[in-house]
Amino acid sequence: MGYAYDDQNIFAKILRGEIPNKTVLETEHTLAFADIQPQAPVHVLVIPKGPYASLDHFTQEASDAEILDFNRTIGKVCEMTKVETKDGGMGFRAITNAGVHGHQEVPHLHVHILGGRQLGRMLPRD
Ligand code: 5GP
Repeated sequence: MGYAYDDQNIFAKILRGEIPNKTVLETEHTLAFADIQPQAPVHVLVIPKGPYASLDHFTQEASDAEILDFNRTIGKVCEMTKVETKDGGMGFRAITNAGVHGHQEVPHLHVHILGGRQLGRMLPRD
């Protein structure tokens, strides 16, 4: 069966320019833009331009160039939004939700970069 990709998802529409976005950084293979419902002072979504549904899809099937570009873009976004840990900076959280158990809402890989406030524990304890 393999990985499925629905090209009608909202981020595919953003990539085709059918829906506007607040771009933070665009590279050859990657787009970073502001989340429409920010959950922290910094809330940026980093997505590959290619049709990958989730992190496992991307890391198994994307090209080396796409994977390199995606990871470098995450680093640049951290620098640009001033959440990096360099020089004693306050840091951030990177989250990617995948599939049903991950509670993924938009089926195009996105890494959330969240920062600008204390984010607490990773997951609430049951
Ligand atoms: P998920 O639950 O799939 O990890 O997160 C989806 C994220 O996409 C949510 O944080 C939501 O606010 C964001 N989002 C949904 N629709 C749009 C949109 O049209 N534009 C932007 N910029 N973000 C969106």
